[in-house]
Amino acid sequence: MSDQKPRVQEIRQSEDRFLSSDIFDERSHTFAPRNGKGTMIEPQREIAIYHNCDVLVVGGGTAGTAAALAAARTGADVVVLERYNHLGGLSTGGAVIWIDRMTDWDGNQVIQGFAKEVIDRLPADAVAGPERKLWGVKDDALAKYWRLRTSAFHGIVTWAPTLDPERMKLTTQEMLIEAGVRIVYHSWMSVPVVEDGAVKGVVFESKEGRQALMAKVVVDCTGDGDVFSRAGGGFDTDIEEGDVHHSANTGFMLCGVDMETWLDFRLNEPEAFAELNKLGRETLGFFQAPYVSWRNDVALFLGPRQSGLSAVNVDDQTELEIRSHRFMRTHCEFFRKHAPGFEKAWMMLSASQLGVRHTRRLQGVGRVERAQWDKGEVLPDEIGVSPSVSPKFPVISVPYGALVPARLDGVLAAGRHISCDANSHGFMREIPQCWLTGQAAGAAAGVAANRGVQPRNVDIGEVQETLRKQGAVVRSRVLAEAAG
Ligand SMILES: Cc1cc2nc3c(=O)[nH]c(=O)nc-3n(C[C@H](O)[C@H](O)[C@H](O)COP(=O)(O)OP(=O)(O)OC[C@H]3O[C@@H](n4cnc5c(N)ncnc54)[C@H](O)[C@@H]3O)c2cc1C
Repeated sequence: MSDQKPRVQEIRQSEDRFLSSDIFDERSHTFAPRNGKGTMIEPQREIAIYHNCDVLVVGGGTAGTAAALAAARTGADVVVLERYNHLGGLSTGGAVIWIDRMTDWDGNQVIQGFAKEVIDRLPADAVAGPERKLWGVKDDALAKYWRLRTSAFHGIVTWAPTLDPERMKLTTQEMLIEAGVRIVYHSWMSVPVVEDGAVKGVVFESKEGRQALMAKVVVDCTGDGDVFSRAGGGFDTDIEEGDVHHSANTGFMLCGVDMETWLDFRLNEPEAFAELNKLGRETLGFFQAPYVSWRNDVALFLGPRQSGLSAVNVDDQTELEIRSHRFMRTHCEFFRKHAPGFEKAWMMLSASQLGVRHTRRLQGVGRVERAQWDKGEVLPDEIGVSPSVSPKFPVISVPYGALVPARLDGVLAAGRHISCDANSHGFMREIPQCWLTGQAAGAAAGVAANRGVQPRNVDIGEVQETLRKQGAVVRSRVLAEAAG
């Protein structure tokens, strides 16, 4: 056990770094270190092939759900393998129900496709956010109102709603079933099957034991690059202690609250709110303010954000869970006692999935980079468009190369582990961008499997056209250049 005290981080914000971690704590655990030593030989054995398919999506999370749907719509036979009992990953089971910005600073929805389709299919009371006519509006009063409700930044109302996670799980599950996707829950991918530098499938573990799933193309949507990293694909793992980039924590929700009373207090009593923050930091060591959710009686907590522990180390993961569960209790007690609107709050749910922001990032054929931010260039292999971090920058062209491993065939990556630099990861890991790269990887995997070519050799024009037909915004470089 370590007696090292966690360090509370100073908030350091900049244009490139708009969130920091709350706590930096390197390898301090509340439990005794493991005592395992040496190795053992796992006996070789023959295992059953569960299924042969065209496209296997490993991880039915944020990106994986979009990938499976997009691949199935190319006519491919698709399987999605998921370790938990639902789709959506962090965006549902991880309680990250605040879907970040999908609009540019003029209010145009630039992340559409899966993002638009799924939200349009949700019942109206499962979505909380500003109506369409307000997106892009620069009005102080409206921006102030929506800033507190997750949907205004830099004085501009945007499209960044909060969603009901249970309806998301159900809606996406039905969409995939309608499209003919075979869903395999409760199954954990353990190792990829690699032959001659190409991924051919995976071995997975379930209550039935170990089995194999073979595919023409595998899409790694595990968020941690489990497939490409174990198959020998290169990846980056940089850590900056003060940055939110590498921090993790389990999200939680308190119920029985009156959010309108809390928001009224936040907005109209700034001095009392500052006092409450101070008291929170003194009492708890840090203070995590709640976010709104899709309901007035549910408050969402997406911190305290802890860095220094690795979300691909099982002891660190355990430690993060232990601490996050304790934070939930202490925050609930503190808020009940001191925060207007929280007098009757109770602990509704801690997320079933650890909130991981970053572990590994693919080394791809291409990548999204900070140098791109100011240029506004339409890349020739664009597979989608991301909103930029501030009105100072134009929208950002997301290249297909960011999904293709530099040196591995048979596999594509989508979601928070795509190829990008650390700065660009700050927005490329957000839910809409994971939907975007998921849909693109799924469409490309379907095209590759149908044509019998490796993902790196697909006709990018065909992938772009497939994505446009599926409702995604993919610009044409030729048209952009002609328009000046
Ligand atoms: C605390 C927190 C707050 C955040 N806040 C926001 C926010 O406000 N707005 C926003 O837009 N984004 C936010 N994000 C970012 C966003 O939620 C994630 O980056 C995004 O959801 C990641 O999507 P993904 O598909 O890459 O990974 P995930 O959604 O994690 O999906 C990975 C899936 O793969 C499965 N899986 C993993 N390994 C295996 C395996 N070996 N075998 C089988 N299945 C496997 C997992 O169970 C999971 O379902 C936040 C993230 C965190 C952690």
